[in-house]
Amino acid sequence: MILPKAAKLTPDQLQEVTAIVTEFGCRIHPIVGALRTIYAILGDERDELMINRLEGLPYIERIDRIQSPFKLMDSRSDLATHRIRIGGVTLGEELLVIAGHCTIDPKHPEYFYETAHAVKEAGARVLRGGVWKPRTNPYAFQGDDKSLDILMEASRRTGLPVDTEVMDECQLKLALDAGVHMLQVGARNALNYSLLRQIGAAVAGRATIVLLKRSLHMGTLNEFISAAEYIANFGNPNIILCPRGTAPALDGYRNHPDESIVPLLREHTWAPVVVDPSHAVGKASYVPAAALAAIAYGADGLCLEAHVQPSKGIGDDPKQAVTPDVLAAIIHRARAIWDLNHAETGGR
Ligand code: PEP
Ligand code: MN
Repeated sequence: MILPKAAKLTPDQLQEVTAIVTEFGCRIHPIVGALRTIYAILGDERDELMINRLEGLPYIERIDRIQSPFKLMDSRSDLATHRIRIGGVTLGEELLVIAGHCTIDPKHPEYFYETAHAVKEAGARVLRGGVWKPRTNPYAFQGDDKSLDILMEASRRTGLPVDTEVMDECQLKLALDAGVHMLQVGARNALNYSLLRQIGAAVAGRATIVLLKRSLHMGTLNEFISAAEYIANFGNPNIILCPRGTAPALDGYRNHPDESIVPLLREHTWAPVVVDPSHAVGKASYVPAAALAAIAYGADGLCLEAHVQPSKGIGDDPKQAVTPDVLAAIIHRARAIWDLNHAETGGR
């Protein structure tokens, strides 16, 4: 829908606008109001270049799009009935909890194996464990290929599917070859369109699920859902959105907790939403409240850092990981909130 600055377009302006939309296979239909005429674009109005050209015209106030820019991830797309299933859970039908170490310590695999059994016992259905880590400080531990074997061994021992972050094509290949069930796109890479495309292409035709974190710098819903669209575009729509806090941080927290984005995502996309409260608040003692808030907001699940002995952990684990007891209590309460929500709304 084209809104001119003046009450209506002059004949020359209308001709220019018509010429532009015709180039993209669309037509103009004027809608004459009492005070103002607006111009509907008939046809597929999703082409960015057409919109940019129209928005660049000095006599145009704005363009309101009726069609969503997301062909696949939009809540009205044909994929809206698509369901994602992992660890025996169908997203949207039962709470999904992903839990485990921030970082697997290759020198101490025993902690990861213990944690894997403990999170399973606590009710987690997917095991997380960082093999390669995006670290702010270049001298901090960056991860180790050896941890991939530990991750897969923990999966075999517990029967849990596993989630790990990949940051480049080489890690992507190693993870897929090893049989990783869920690939995490970290907050730092959620705006890395080359990586999103590589992951989309690599998971096409596979059952692999992608857990797409929200970037620290993603302001708009559009940016978050578009990142998912990049991946889905290659053919695999198994994408879960994961808000994990944004910048600037709320004083005292690691980031600005953003679980309140859940109802907005629900409205605009069919993709399930699993919130990561661990990175949002950044301190184990704040995690339970943030986790329960996310479920109250309607999240489909939680991704939590958990460790049998957080003080022996590496990466974020010493400050952020909850113990298995706390994890069990979070899951118990989260299920109660989930049941209340779903009893009242009849589900999603
Ligand atoms: C993580 O999950 O350990 C992690 C690094 O997350 P994020 O990308 O959200 O910071
Ligand atoms: Mn972490």
